[in-house]
Amino acid sequence: MQKIAIIGGGIIGITLANYLDTTKYDITLFDEGKGQATKASAGIISPWLSKRRNKRWYRLAKDGAAFLQKLATDMNLSQEIYAKNGTILLRSKGLADLANLAEQRKKDAPEIGDIELLSSYQTASKLPLLAPQESLYVSGGARLNGLLYLEYMKKLAVQKQVNFINEKAVLKRKNDHWQISTQNHQISADNVIITAGPNCKPLLEPLGYQVDLRPQKGQLIVFNTAQTESYQWPVAMLDNEADLIPANKGQIIIGATHEDEAQWDLQPTKEAFERLTENSKNFLQFPEKLLKNSFGYRIGTRAYTSDFAPFFGSLADEPSLFVASGLGSSGLTTGPYIGYLLANFFNIGSWPKKDYQKPLSTYIQERTTL
Ligand SMILES: Cc1cc2nc3c(=O)[nH]c(=O)nc-3n(C[C@H](O)[C@H](O)[C@H](O)COP(=O)(O)OP(=O)(O)OC[C@H]3O[C@@H](n4cnc5c(N)ncnc54)[C@H](O)[C@@H]3O)c2cc1C
Repeated sequence: MQKIAIIGGGIIGITLANYLDTTKYDITLFDEGKGQATKASAGIISPWLSKRRNKRWYRLAKDGAAFLQKLATDMNLSQEIYAKNGTILLRSKGLADLANLAEQRKKDAPEIGDIELLSSYQTASKLPLLAPQESLYVSGGARLNGLLYLEYMKKLAVQKQVNFINEKAVLKRKNDHWQISTQNHQISADNVIITAGPNCKPLLEPLGYQVDLRPQKGQLIVFNTAQTESYQWPVAMLDNEADLIPANKGQIIIGATHEDEAQWDLQPTKEAFERLTENSKNFLQFPEKLLKNSFGYRIGTRAYTSDFAPFFGSLADEPSLFVASGLGSSGLTTGPYIGYLLANFFNIGSWPKKDYQKPLSTYIQERTTL
Protein backbone atom coordinates (compact mmCIF):
# COMPACT_ATOMS: atom_id res chain seq x y z
CA MET A 1 0.00 0.00 0.00
CA GLN A 2 1.34 3.47 -0.90
CA LYS A 3 2.08 5.77 2.01
CA ILE A 4 0.96 9.38 2.15
CA ALA A 5 2.17 11.85 4.76
CA ILE A 6 0.17 15.04 5.31
CA ILE A 7 2.00 17.78 7.20
CA GLY A 8 -0.55 20.21 8.67
CA GLY A 9 -3.98 19.38 10.05
CA GLY A 10 -5.81 22.64 9.40
CA ILE A 11 -8.87 22.84 7.18
CA ILE A 12 -7.06 21.66 4.03
CA GLY A 13 -5.19 18.78 5.68
CA ILE A 14 -8.09 17.38 7.70
CA THR A 15 -10.54 17.58 4.77
CA LEU A 16 -8.00 15.90 2.51
CA ALA A 17 -7.39 13.12 5.07
CA ASN A 18 -11.12 12.41 5.22
CA TYR A 19 -11.62 12.26 1.45
CA LEU A 20 -8.52 10.16 0.68
CA ASP A 21 -9.27 6.51 -0.06
CA THR A 22 -7.90 4.58 2.92
CA THR A 23 -8.33 1.27 1.09
CA LYS A 24 -5.64 2.50 -1.32
CA TYR A 25 -3.38 4.55 0.94
CA ASP A 26 -1.78 4.33 4.35
CA ILE A 27 -2.14 7.91 5.65
CA THR A 28 -0.30 9.70 8.46
CA LEU A 29 -1.19 13.27 9.38
CA PHE A 30 1.33 15.37 11.34
CA ASP A 31 0.15 18.42 13.23
CA GLU A 32 2.02 20.41 15.82
CA GLY A 33 -1.19 22.26 16.81
CA LYS A 34 0.37 25.71 16.87
CA GLY A 35 -0.97 28.98 15.46
CA GLN A 36 -3.57 27.14 13.48
CA ALA A 37 -5.67 29.63 11.50
CA THR A 38 -8.58 27.20 11.16
CA LYS A 39 -8.94 26.77 14.92
CA ALA A 40 -9.16 30.53 15.44
CA SER A 41 -11.16 31.44 12.39
CA ALA A 42 -14.41 33.33 12.30
CA GLY A 43 -16.27 31.26 9.78
CA ILE A 44 -17.79 33.58 7.22
CA ILE A 45 -18.69 31.85 3.96
CA SER A 46 -19.91 34.56 1.63
CA PRO A 47 -17.46 35.22 -1.22
CA TRP A 48 -19.87 36.46 -3.90
CA LEU A 49 -19.81 40.18 -3.15
CA SER A 50 -16.10 40.52 -2.45
CA LYS A 51 -14.39 43.59 -3.88
CA ARG A 52 -11.46 41.46 -5.06
CA ARG A 53 -10.82 41.55 -8.81
CA ASN A 54 -8.83 38.32 -9.09
CA LYS A 55 -11.04 36.17 -11.35
CA ARG A 56 -9.19 32.92 -10.60
CA TRP A 57 -9.62 33.48 -6.86
CA TYR A 58 -13.32 34.28 -7.33
CA ARG A 59 -13.87 31.10 -9.37
CA LEU A 60 -12.19 29.02 -6.65
CA ALA A 61 -14.04 30.76 -3.80
CA LYS A 62 -17.41 30.51 -5.54
CA ASP A 63 -16.91 26.80 -6.27
CA GLY A 64 -15.54 26.36 -2.74
CA ALA A 65 -18.68 27.88 -1.22
CA ALA A 66 -20.85 25.62 -3.42
CA PHE A 67 -18.77 22.57 -2.43
CA LEU A 68 -19.48 23.15 1.27
CA GLN A 69 -23.02 21.91 0.77
CA LYS A 70 -21.67 18.59 -0.55
CA LEU A 71 -19.13 18.45 2.28
CA ALA A 72 -21.89 18.99 4.86
CA THR A 73 -23.83 16.05 3.39
CA ASP A 74 -20.83 13.76 2.82
CA MET A 75 -19.50 14.25 6.35
CA ASN A 76 -22.86 14.71 8.04
CA LEU A 77 -21.88 18.07 9.57
CA SER A 78 -24.16 19.33 12.33
CA GLN A 79 -25.75 22.79 12.35
CA GLU A 80 -23.34 23.71 15.13
CA ILE A 81 -20.44 23.18 12.72
CA TYR A 82 -21.89 24.44 9.43
CA ALA A 83 -25.03 26.54 9.17
CA LYS A 84 -26.47 28.21 6.11
CA ASN A 85 -28.27 31.03 7.91
CA GLY A 86 -27.60 33.78 5.37
CA THR A 87 -25.46 36.91 5.40
CA ILE A 88 -26.49 40.49 6.12
CA LEU A 89 -24.36 43.15 4.42
CA LEU A 90 -24.37 46.62 5.95
CA ARG A 91 -23.29 49.68 3.95
CA SER A 92 -23.70 53.38 4.61
CA LYS A 93 -24.41 53.77 0.86
CA GLY A 94 -24.59 51.71 -2.33
CA LEU A 95 -26.87 48.90 -1.13
CA ALA A 96 -28.92 48.95 -4.36
CA ASP A 97 -25.71 48.61 -6.45
CA LEU A 98 -24.63 45.73 -4.25
CA ALA A 99 -28.00 44.04 -4.79
CA ASN A 100 -27.53 44.44 -8.59
CA LEU A 101 -24.07 42.89 -8.36
CA ALA A 102 -25.54 39.99 -6.36
CA GLU A 103 -28.16 39.42 -9.09
CA GLN A 104 -25.40 39.41 -11.73
CA ARG A 105 -23.26 36.97 -9.77
CA LYS A 106 -26.22 34.69 -9.08
CA LYS A 107 -26.34 33.78 -12.80
CA ASP A 108 -23.36 31.47 -12.37
CA ALA A 109 -23.54 31.08 -8.58
CA PRO A 110 -27.13 30.03 -7.80
CA GLU A 111 -26.01 29.03 -4.28
CA ILE A 112 -26.05 32.74 -3.39
CA GLY A 113 -29.78 32.09 -2.81
CA ASP A 114 -32.41 34.76 -2.31
CA ILE A 115 -31.31 38.39 -2.51
CA GLU A 116 -33.37 40.89 -0.52
CA LEU A 117 -32.99 44.54 0.39
CA LEU A 118 -34.12 44.71 4.02
CA SER A 119 -35.77 47.61 5.83
CA SER A 120 -34.36 48.73 9.20
CA TYR A 121 -37.03 46.73 10.98
CA GLN A 122 -36.36 43.57 8.93
CA THR A 123 -32.60 43.83 9.55
CA ALA A 124 -33.01 44.05 13.32
CA SER A 125 -35.49 41.20 13.40
CA LYS A 126 -33.10 38.89 11.48
CA LEU A 127 -30.22 39.69 13.87
CA PRO A 128 -31.54 41.31 17.07
CA LEU A 129 -28.09 42.54 18.13
CA LEU A 130 -28.07 45.02 15.25
CA ALA A 131 -29.33 48.57 15.51
CA PRO A 132 -32.15 49.21 12.99
CA GLN A 133 -30.56 50.02 9.61
CA GLU A 134 -31.16 49.07 5.99
CA SER A 135 -29.17 46.15 4.66
CA LEU A 136 -28.79 43.55 1.94
CA TYR A 137 -29.50 39.92 2.79
CA VAL A 138 -28.33 36.88 0.81
CA SER A 139 -29.80 33.61 2.01
CA GLY A 140 -26.93 31.38 0.75
CA GLY A 141 -24.36 32.89 3.12
CA ALA A 142 -23.12 30.47 5.76
CA ARG A 143 -20.80 30.11 8.71
CA LEU A 144 -18.38 27.32 9.49
CA ASN A 145 -17.06 26.87 13.00
CA GLY A 146 -13.37 26.08 12.35
CA LEU A 147 -12.63 24.74 15.82
CA LEU A 148 -15.61 22.35 15.94
CA TYR A 149 -14.97 21.31 12.33
CA LEU A 150 -11.42 20.22 13.14
CA GLU A 151 -12.46 18.29 16.26
CA TYR A 152 -15.25 16.48 14.43
CA MET A 153 -13.27 15.72 11.26
CA LYS A 154 -10.37 14.37 13.31
CA LYS A 155 -12.73 11.85 14.95
CA LEU A 156 -13.99 10.76 11.51
CA ALA A 157 -10.43 10.41 10.20
CA VAL A 158 -9.41 8.28 13.19
CA GLN A 159 -12.37 5.99 12.45
CA LYS A 160 -11.07 5.72 8.88
CA GLN A 161 -7.69 4.52 10.22
CA VAL A 162 -5.78 7.73 9.48
CA ASN A 163 -2.75 7.87 11.83
CA PHE A 164 -2.14 11.10 13.74
CA ILE A 165 1.18 12.34 15.08
CA ASN A 166 0.74 15.52 17.10
CA GLU A 167 4.29 16.82 16.79
CA LYS A 168 6.26 19.22 14.64
CA ALA A 169 7.50 17.49 11.48
CA VAL A 170 10.65 17.99 9.42
CA LEU A 171 10.89 16.71 5.85
CA LYS A 172 13.89 15.17 4.05
CA ARG A 173 14.42 13.47 0.68
CA LYS A 174 15.92 9.96 1.06
CA ASN A 175 16.65 8.35 -2.33
CA ASP A 176 13.27 7.28 -3.76
CA HIS A 177 11.13 8.19 -0.75
CA TRP A 178 10.46 10.97 1.77
CA GLN A 179 11.45 10.86 5.41
CA ILE A 180 9.32 12.73 7.94
CA SER A 181 10.80 13.12 11.39
CA THR A 182 9.40 14.46 14.66
CA GLN A 183 10.82 14.43 18.17
CA ASN A 184 9.54 10.88 18.83
CA HIS A 185 8.76 9.41 15.42
CA GLN A 186 10.24 8.84 12.01
CA ILE A 187 8.27 7.52 9.05
CA SER A 188 8.87 7.21 5.33
CA ALA A 189 6.31 8.07 2.66
CA ASP A 190 5.90 7.76 -1.11
CA ASN A 191 3.98 11.05 -1.33
CA VAL A 192 3.98 14.09 0.93
CA ILE A 193 1.32 16.81 1.01
CA ILE A 194 2.31 19.94 2.90
CA THR A 195 -0.72 21.86 4.16
CA ALA A 196 1.05 23.72 6.95
CA GLY A 197 -0.29 27.27 6.42
CA PRO A 198 2.56 29.82 6.52
CA ASN A 199 4.88 27.05 7.78
CA CYS A 200 5.07 25.60 4.27
CA LYS A 201 7.91 28.09 3.82
CA PRO A 202 10.21 26.83 6.65
CA LEU A 203 9.38 23.24 5.66
CA LEU A 204 10.38 23.73 2.02
CA GLU A 205 13.33 26.10 2.34
CA PRO A 206 15.74 23.48 3.78
CA LEU A 207 14.97 21.42 0.64
CA GLY A 208 16.20 24.32 -1.47
CA TYR A 209 12.94 26.01 -2.52
CA GLN A 210 12.05 29.67 -2.24
CA VAL A 211 8.48 30.17 -1.14
CA ASP A 212 6.36 33.30 -1.49
CA LEU A 213 4.43 33.16 1.80
CA ARG A 214 4.17 35.46 4.79
CA PRO A 215 2.40 35.07 8.16
CA GLN A 216 -0.29 37.50 9.31
CA LYS A 217 -1.81 37.65 12.77
CA GLY A 218 -5.61 37.71 13.13
CA GLN A 219 -7.53 38.36 16.36
CA LEU A 220 -11.22 37.89 17.12
CA ILE A 221 -13.16 38.62 20.29
CA VAL A 222 -15.93 36.36 21.54
CA PHE A 223 -18.81 37.91 23.56
CA ASN A 224 -21.65 36.29 25.46
CA THR A 225 -25.09 37.59 24.55
CA ALA A 226 -27.12 35.58 27.06
CA GLN A 227 -29.49 34.73 24.18
CA THR A 228 -30.22 31.18 23.20
CA GLU A 229 -31.18 31.41 19.55
CA SER A 230 -27.75 32.65 18.36
CA TYR A 231 -27.08 29.50 16.30
CA GLN A 232 -29.91 30.54 13.96
CA TRP A 233 -28.69 34.08 13.35
CA PRO A 234 -27.12 35.15 10.06
CA VAL A 235 -23.60 36.56 9.84
CA ALA A 236 -23.43 40.36 9.55
CA MET A 237 -20.65 41.85 7.42
CA LEU A 238 -20.15 45.40 8.61
CA ASP A 239 -18.84 48.24 6.52
CA ASN A 240 -15.28 48.00 7.92
CA GLU A 241 -12.76 45.54 9.40
CA ALA A 242 -15.20 44.11 11.98
CA ASP A 243 -17.89 41.54 11.24
CA LEU A 244 -20.38 39.82 13.55
CA ILE A 245 -20.39 36.04 13.47
CA PRO A 246 -22.91 34.20 15.64
CA ALA A 247 -21.61 31.07 17.33
CA ASN A 248 -23.28 28.54 19.59
CA LYS A 249 -24.63 28.96 23.12
CA GLY A 250 -25.38 32.66 22.79
CA GLN A 251 -21.89 33.65 21.68
CA ILE A 252 -21.14 36.29 19.11
CA ILE A 253 -17.71 36.74 17.55
CA ILE A 254 -16.44 40.14 16.44
CA GLY A 255 -13.49 40.40 14.08
CA ALA A 256 -11.06 39.96 12.65
CA THR A 257 -7.90 42.07 12.68
CA HIS A 258 -5.30 41.81 9.89
CA GLU A 259 -1.90 42.50 11.51
CA ASP A 260 1.03 42.17 9.13
CA GLU A 261 3.73 43.39 11.52
CA ALA A 262 2.67 41.02 14.32
CA GLN A 263 3.27 37.99 12.03
CA TRP A 264 3.56 34.82 14.23
CA ASP A 265 2.63 36.50 17.53
CA LEU A 266 -0.35 34.84 19.27
CA GLN A 267 -0.85 37.17 22.24
CA PRO A 268 -4.16 39.03 22.66
CA THR A 269 -3.78 42.82 22.53
CA LYS A 270 -5.74 45.71 24.01
CA GLU A 271 -5.38 47.57 20.68
CA ALA A 272 -7.25 44.82 18.84
CA PHE A 273 -10.03 44.86 21.42
CA GLU A 274 -10.37 48.63 21.14
CA ARG A 275 -10.29 48.68 17.35
CA LEU A 276 -12.82 45.88 16.89
CA THR A 277 -15.26 47.20 19.50
CA GLU A 278 -14.92 50.75 18.15
CA ASN A 279 -15.59 49.53 14.58
CA SER A 280 -18.66 47.55 15.55
CA LYS A 281 -20.39 49.73 18.16
CA ASN A 282 -22.22 52.03 15.71
CA PHE A 283 -23.88 49.01 14.13
CA LEU A 284 -25.10 47.51 17.42
CA GLN A 285 -28.43 47.97 19.18
CA PHE A 286 -27.03 48.08 22.74
CA PRO A 287 -23.25 48.27 22.37
CA GLU A 288 -22.54 49.11 26.03
CA LYS A 289 -24.46 46.07 27.21
CA LEU A 290 -22.84 43.61 24.81
CA LEU A 291 -19.29 44.93 24.72
CA LYS A 292 -18.82 45.04 28.47
CA ASN A 293 -19.09 41.23 28.59
CA SER A 294 -15.80 40.29 27.02
CA PHE A 295 -15.51 36.52 26.89
CA GLY A 296 -12.23 35.74 25.22
CA TYR A 297 -9.99 35.96 22.20
CA ARG A 298 -9.35 33.67 19.26
CA ILE A 299 -5.99 34.25 17.61
CA GLY A 300 -4.40 32.59 14.60
CA THR A 301 -1.83 33.05 11.84
CA ARG A 302 -2.99 33.37 8.24
CA ALA A 303 -0.78 32.59 5.24
CA TYR A 304 -0.54 35.14 2.42
CA THR A 305 1.19 35.15 -0.95
CA SER A 306 2.30 38.41 -2.59
CA ASP A 307 -0.79 38.51 -4.82
CA PHE A 308 -3.13 37.30 -2.01
CA ALA A 309 -4.03 34.17 -4.00
CA PRO A 310 -3.93 30.54 -2.80
CA PHE A 311 -1.93 27.79 -4.54
CA PHE A 312 -2.01 24.01 -4.58
CA GLY A 313 -0.40 21.19 -6.59
CA SER A 314 2.80 19.19 -6.97
CA LEU A 315 6.26 20.57 -7.63
CA ALA A 316 7.57 20.29 -11.20
CA ASP A 317 10.86 18.66 -10.15
CA GLU A 318 9.31 16.55 -7.35
CA PRO A 319 5.97 15.13 -8.56
CA SER A 320 5.46 13.25 -5.27
CA LEU A 321 5.65 16.46 -3.21
CA PHE A 322 2.43 18.48 -3.01
CA VAL A 323 1.85 21.84 -1.34
CA ALA A 324 -1.31 23.86 -0.62
CA SER A 325 -1.33 27.21 1.17
CA GLY A 326 -1.75 30.98 0.84
CA LEU A 327 -5.44 30.90 1.71
CA GLY A 328 -5.36 34.31 3.40
CA SER A 329 -8.61 35.47 4.97
CA SER A 330 -10.97 33.28 2.94
CA GLY A 331 -9.51 29.85 3.66
CA LEU A 332 -12.63 28.40 5.26
CA THR A 333 -14.29 28.97 1.90
CA THR A 334 -11.50 27.72 -0.40
CA GLY A 335 -9.63 25.28 1.92
CA PRO A 336 -12.11 22.37 2.10
CA TYR A 337 -12.50 22.40 -1.69
CA ILE A 338 -8.72 22.40 -2.20
CA GLY A 339 -8.48 19.40 0.19
CA TYR A 340 -11.16 17.62 -1.83
CA LEU A 341 -9.48 18.37 -5.18
CA LEU A 342 -6.16 17.01 -3.89
CA ALA A 343 -7.90 13.86 -2.61
CA ASN A 344 -9.57 13.38 -6.01
CA PHE A 345 -6.19 13.51 -7.67
CA PHE A 346 -4.94 10.64 -5.50
CA ASN A 347 -8.17 8.63 -5.57
CA ILE A 348 -9.15 8.86 -9.23
CA GLY A 349 -6.32 10.77 -10.95
CA SER A 350 -8.53 13.74 -11.83
CA TRP A 351 -7.30 17.32 -11.68
CA PRO A 352 -9.56 20.40 -12.05
CA LYS A 353 -9.83 21.66 -15.61
CA LYS A 354 -10.91 25.08 -14.40
CA ASP A 355 -8.37 27.88 -14.19
CA TYR A 356 -8.20 28.37 -10.40
CA GLN A 357 -4.65 29.61 -9.93
CA LYS A 358 -1.44 30.85 -11.53
CA PRO A 359 1.27 28.20 -12.12
CA LEU A 360 2.71 26.88 -8.85
CA SER A 361 6.14 28.20 -9.89
CA THR A 362 4.75 31.71 -9.30
CA TYR A 363 4.83 30.97 -5.57
CA ILE A 364 7.45 28.22 -5.20
CA GLN A 365 10.68 28.84 -7.08
CA GLU A 366 12.74 26.03 -8.54
CA ARG A 367 15.20 24.31 -6.26
CA THR A 368 18.51 26.07 -5.86
CA THR A 369 21.76 24.12 -5.42
CA LEU A 370 22.37 23.53 -1.71
C1 LIG B 1 -8.73 35.34 13.08
C2 LIG B 1 -9.03 34.67 11.76
C3 LIG B 1 -10.31 34.78 11.21
C4 LIG B 1 -10.61 34.16 9.98
N1 LIG B 1 -11.88 34.24 9.47
C5 LIG B 1 -12.19 33.62 8.30
C6 LIG B 1 -13.50 33.67 7.77
O1 LIG B 1 -14.41 34.26 8.35
N2 LIG B 1 -13.76 33.04 6.59
C7 LIG B 1 -12.80 32.38 5.90
O2 LIG B 1 -13.10 31.82 4.82
N3 LIG B 1 -11.54 32.30 6.39
C8 LIG B 1 -11.21 32.91 7.56
N4 LIG B 1 -9.94 32.88 8.06
C9 LIG B 1 -8.89 32.25 7.23
C10 LIG B 1 -8.84 30.75 7.41
O3 LIG B 1 -8.99 30.42 8.76
C11 LIG B 1 -7.50 30.22 6.90
O4 LIG B 1 -7.22 30.71 5.61
C12 LIG B 1 -7.52 28.69 6.83
O5 LIG B 1 -8.03 28.16 8.02
C13 LIG B 1 -6.11 28.15 6.57
O6 LIG B 1 -6.17 26.76 6.59
P1 LIG B 1 -4.88 25.89 6.35
O7 LIG B 1 -5.32 24.46 6.44
O8 LIG B 1 -4.16 26.34 5.12
O9 LIG B 1 -3.88 26.27 7.53
P2 LIG B 1 -3.99 26.21 9.19
O10 LIG B 1 -5.39 26.14 9.60
O11 LIG B 1 -3.13 27.28 9.65
O12 LIG B 1 -3.34 24.80 9.46
C14 LIG B 1 -1.96 24.57 9.29
C15 LIG B 1 -1.57 23.51 10.30
O13 LIG B 1 -0.23 23.09 10.05
C16 LIG B 1 0.36 22.76 11.31
N5 LIG B 1 1.81 22.81 11.11
C17 LIG B 1 2.56 23.84 10.65
N6 LIG B 1 3.85 23.49 10.56
C18 LIG B 1 3.94 22.19 10.95
C19 LIG B 1 5.00 21.26 11.07
N7 LIG B 1 6.28 21.58 10.74
N8 LIG B 1 4.73 20.03 11.54
C20 LIG B 1 3.46 19.68 11.87
N9 LIG B 1 2.40 20.53 11.77
C21 LIG B 1 2.64 21.76 11.31
C22 LIG B 1 -0.16 23.82 12.27
O14 LIG B 1 -0.13 23.34 13.58
C23 LIG B 1 -1.58 24.00 11.76
O15 LIG B 1 -2.45 23.18 12.49
C24 LIG B 1 -9.60 33.45 9.28
C25 LIG B 1 -8.32 33.33 9.85
C26 LIG B 1 -8.04 33.93 11.09
C27 LIG B 1 -6.65 33.78 11.67
